[in-house]
Amino acid sequence: MTTRKILVTSALPYANGSIHLGHLVEYIQTDIWVRFQKMRGHECHYVCADDTHGTPIMLRAEKEGVTPEQLIARVWQEHFDDFSAFHIEFDNYGSTNSIENKECAQDIYRTLKANGLIEVRSIEQFYDPVKNMFLPDRFIKGECPKCHAKDQYGDNCEVCGAAYAPTDLIEPFSAVSGAAPELRNSDHYFFKLSADSCQQFLRQWTRGGSLQPEAANKMQEWLGAEGENKLSDWDISRDAPYFGFEIPDAPGKYFYVWLDAPVGYMGSFKQLCKAKGLNFDDYWKPDSDAELYHFIGKDILYFHALFWPAMLQHAGFRTPTKLFAHGFLTVNGEKMSKSRGTFITARSYVDHIKNTEYLRYYYAAKLNGTMEDLDLNLEDFVAKVNSDLIGKYINIASRCAGFLTKFFDGKLAFADGKPLLDSAIANGQVVSDSFENRDFARALRDIMALADRINGDIAAAAPWTLAKDETQREALHDICSRALHGFYVLSILLSPVLPALTSRVARELFGLDRDFSWADLAVLPTRINAYQHLATRLDPKLIEAMVAANQESLKPMTETQTAAKPAIVPIAETISIDDFMKVDLRVAHIVNAEHVEGAEKLLKLTLDIGEAQPRTVFAGIKSAYDPEKLKGRMTVMVANLAPRKMKFGMSEGMVLAASGETPGLFVLSPDEGAQPGMRIK
Ligand SMILES: [Zn+2]
Repeated sequence: MTTRKILVTSALPYANGSIHLGHLVEYIQTDIWVRFQKMRGHECHYVCADDTHGTPIMLRAEKEGVTPEQLIARVWQEHFDDFSAFHIEFDNYGSTNSIENKECAQDIYRTLKANGLIEVRSIEQFYDPVKNMFLPDRFIKGECPKCHAKDQYGDNCEVCGAAYAPTDLIEPFSAVSGAAPELRNSDHYFFKLSADSCQQFLRQWTRGGSLQPEAANKMQEWLGAEGENKLSDWDISRDAPYFGFEIPDAPGKYFYVWLDAPVGYMGSFKQLCKAKGLNFDDYWKPDSDAELYHFIGKDILYFHALFWPAMLQHAGFRTPTKLFAHGFLTVNGEKMSKSRGTFITARSYVDHIKNTEYLRYYYAAKLNGTMEDLDLNLEDFVAKVNSDLIGKYINIASRCAGFLTKFFDGKLAFADGKPLLDSAIANGQVVSDSFENRDFARALRDIMALADRINGDIAAAAPWTLAKDETQREALHDICSRALHGFYVLSILLSPVLPALTSRVARELFGLDRDFSWADLAVLPTRINAYQHLATRLDPKLIEAMVAANQESLKPMTETQTAAKPAIVPIAETISIDDFMKVDLRVAHIVNAEHVEGAEKLLKLTLDIGEAQPRTVFAGIKSAYDPEKLKGRMTVMVANLAPRKMKFGMSEGMVLAASGETPGLFVLSPDEGAQPGMRIK
């Protein structure tokens, strides 16, 4: 086997919040894949970093009364501790606010500029005269120019789904100070993504096998038909004050956080090179024979499949071998929710469940290498851990190891070892193909099928009965040796998923002075040490306690929580009860919900409010809801809103949804028992 040189990254978590179970889908997936490659003997490096720049970090540090550097140092430690608790083992975990990253970002920028791909243009942008800063789109709010919904962000309306420029908003205000923003001109730096060389390169690169098929299709949509130029230039600069890297020879101008975030992969790897004496260029120059893989969420495909390869290509670097995009996490079939207690941080999981390999096992059992969403069903989680991990795998050793130590001094004996070795190697080949293809679900199905066969053999031979009969020692020795060999094979195959548990098996039970490698499959173990308890069943009460502890909205707020609450959008002007009663709000039953061909933000809802005919409403909630999950739910709608003709048809009302400063969109539901058509007042 030839040794491959592999560099692997996970997306950089933003230093503005805690790691939660949704993030962990990606880091666990990547870590399993990297551990597998290392076990196979390849030279594999896994790097990541905290993403630390931008306006949200700057404003949060200011609010907390610390410097941005202090804020990101604290969050870095939290993130690092959380990852370590889940056995996610980076070879280097850096920060985008590093000297190495600054060098890489400036180097790329200078080359792009020398190649004529940077352009300076004056743009008109909103400026907060109280805060003395230009406002990012997400920090400007106002009334939607299309549907007149209040408190909409500067880039799109979450009620009607319209996209627009912040300057189109009616009565805009700064979400930072509340002041009315002024339009001011400023020079911005653009990466010319619309240039012919970029378009041509991306057309070819996105079809070249580096993307999953569903991602490649999405890219063709974004690129448009041949000859069509749908890409616009990318604004890569922001004005001071900004927490980030200054652009060379452009005082007061900073790189936009999304420019130096992917460059952070290089910056972090550069640190690893310094620590380990690796050659950076071996991995990043166009003639590199190393493989480069980025694991990412499907929400950041645009940055990784267009901007990033185009930048690398034109700055004299190699492009990624492959992007591995995954879907989002749902819990019990729904979006993670604070009110349901399913928005669970990594820390909270550790505090309540402790054993983090249970979650690694469950995620692995569901990950299949596609962009589908992954559901953490909490009941199924308990069942799978207890039936597979404990019931099938651990049980083999706990039932048979004791006989070997008691009667045979821990020695294993095989009448004919060759068939056992052949089968171990054959199983290893099948499972390694699945791991390589990131179809961990399939790998675990095959591993558990093997566990079933071993358990079947044990049940048939019944060593607990044989042990009572002194004339049956040879038969007892044989079945227990085969069972422990089976346990040895399973442990090797499960090592990428359960690194801590299998490390104990290798060292404590089989007496190795190291963790398992894949090559151990070709060896028959000769003896074991006394079996020590390895794992406990997962108690469903722990899950209940974790969910209860995360049900934030039901807990009274403590003083510190109240103090830390983000500023809310200003309350609208006072109205009379008569004004309010003009709005006819009704309980509506969502009879049907479906995607709308060609609409990026809208779902088409069919709502029953007790009338002869159901109503059709287009709602801008596609980003937050899977239509299948909405069907059958009750919600609240404005029933007397004038019908509005939209691009996709007539919309006969509006459903109500909540949104705030943080991402997310939450459709309202009445309490149980409410019937379609009931008036809300
Ligand atoms: Zn609107």
